Amino acid sequence: MDTAPAGHSPVWHPFTQMAIFDADPALVVERAEGNRLIATDGRSYIDGVASLWCNVHGHGRPEIVRAIQEQAATLQHSTLLGVSHPRAIELAERLPSLLPPGLTRSFFSENGASAVEVALKMAVQFWANAGKPERRRIIALEHAYHGDTIGGVSLGGPGRFRDPYAPLLFEPLRFDSPYAFGMAPGTTRAEATQRSLDSLRSLLERHAHESAAVIIEPRVQGAGGMIVSGEGHLAGVRRLCDEFDVLLIADEVATGFGRTGEMFACDLEGVTPDIMALGKGITGGYLPLSATVATERVYANFYDPGNQRTFYHGHTYAGNPICAAAALANFDVFASEDVLGRARERAGQLESLLAERVADHPRVGEVRQQGLMVGIELVADRASRAPFPAAARMGAQVCMAARERDVLLRPLGDVVILMPPLSIEAGELAQICEAVAHGLDAIPDALRLG
Ligand SMILES: *Cc1c(COP(=O)(O)O)cnc(C)c1O
Repeated sequence: MDTAPAGHSPVWHPFTQMAIFDADPALVVERAEGNRLIATDGRSYIDGVASLWCNVHGHGRPEIVRAIQEQAATLQHSTLLGVSHPRAIELAERLPSLLPPGLTRSFFSENGASAVEVALKMAVQFWANAGKPERRRIIALEHAYHGDTIGGVSLGGPGRFRDPYAPLLFEPLRFDSPYAFGMAPGTTRAEATQRSLDSLRSLLERHAHESAAVIIEPRVQGAGGMIVSGEGHLAGVRRLCDEFDVLLIADEVATGFGRTGEMFACDLEGVTPDIMALGKGITGGYLPLSATVATERVYANFYDPGNQRTFYHGHTYAGNPICAAAALANFDVFASEDVLGRARERAGQLESLLAERVADHPRVGEVRQQGLMVGIELVADRASRAPFPAAARMGAQVCMAARERDVLLRPLGDVVILMPPLSIEAGELAQICEAVAHGLDAIPDALRLG
C-alpha cells in the first residue's frame, strides 16, 4: 500500500497506530480548565493522565499564565550558548533549594529524553576527563524507560518500543527490575527489591571497572508499567554505586515535582544522585523544559581553563526564558500552598477508592500505587495471571470505555494508568475510579478466560 486513506487529519501522532486512530472517533481538545479538558464537541473530560504525566496544579492557573505572558512580552528567546539571561539564572539558583542536597549545577534542555541524553554524555565524559575512558558502559534496569531518542531507547526495556530500532542502539548492562508481580506468584515486593539489589551487586562485581553509571527511575518505573520498588531499593542502589565508585543517574522526569508524595522520589529515601534528570512537571506541565542537574564533583570535573574538558552539548531552545518563567511560577505555587500535603491526602483517597471499586475486579491482577501514580495491571485470569492476547488491546479498550464516563486515560499495554494532576479533587477521583470500573465491566465475555 503506497497510499493511506485520508483519515482524520494530517497530523502523524506520537506512539499512535494511525489506522486505529482513524477508526476511532476523533477527540480534539480545544480548551482546558482546572483538571478538565474540553473537546471541540463541547464535552469535558477529566484529565486522568495529566496531559501525559506533566500537569501539576491543573490547567489555566492564573499565576503561571501571567508569568508566561509577562515573560513573552519581555524576552521570548535568547541562547544560553555562551550568553545568559535572568530567568535561566533564577531557575538555576532556585532549583537546588527544592532538590536533594548537593545537586547544584543545572544544564537545561527542552524535553525529558534530552535531559537523559545529557546525563549519559556527562557520565561517560566524566570518566574520560578523569583519565579512565574504559569506564564507558551504562547499567540500566529491566523494564526501564528513559525517553525516545537513541540513547534513551538504548536504555529502555526490550519490546515494541525498542526492538525495531535495535540496529541504531547501544547495549546497556541490565539488572533485575523489582517487578514482584512479574516474578513467581507469592514473591513479595521486599523479595523482588532484594533480588534487584543482589543482581546489581553481581553486575558491579564483574563490570564496575568498565562502567560509567547506573541509571534508574527512582521508586517508580513509570512507562514500564508503574512498577513500584520496595523501601530501601533506592538507598541500596546508592550504596552500591558508592561502594563501586560508579555514578548514579536518577531519572525523575516522571516522578519529580510531587508525584510520589515527596517533592522528588529520591527524597523518599534521602538519596542524592550524582546527576538528576528533570522534565515533565518542571513547568507545571505548561511548556517544554527539562534540566540535568549535577553535583559539584561532576561539574568540577569539566571545569577547565585549558578548554580540554568542555561539555559539547546544547539545544537551540535550551532554557528558553518563557519556559523558565513558567517553571519559576510553578515553584511559587509549591512555595505558597501545601501542594505535597494535599497530594498525599488525595493519594490516600485514591487508594481507598481503588480498593473499593477496582482492586478486586476479576480482570485486575494487581494495583500498584505510589502517591498519585497508579498502574492497574489487567489479567485474563487472576489465578494463573494469564495476560489477555496483545491483539485484544485490552488496556486501550478499558480507556476508550472510560471516555463514555468523561474521563480521559491512556494505558501502557494492559496496564491502565492513573496519573491525575496533583490538584485533582476528591469527587473527580471518584469519577475516575467509576470510569475505570465501567471500563473493566465492559470487557467482552468472549475474552474472559477465567
Ligand atoms: C516521559 C519520560 C521521559 C521522556 O521525557 P520526554 O519529555 O517525553 O522526552 C524520560 N524518562 C522518564 C522516566 C519519563 O517518564
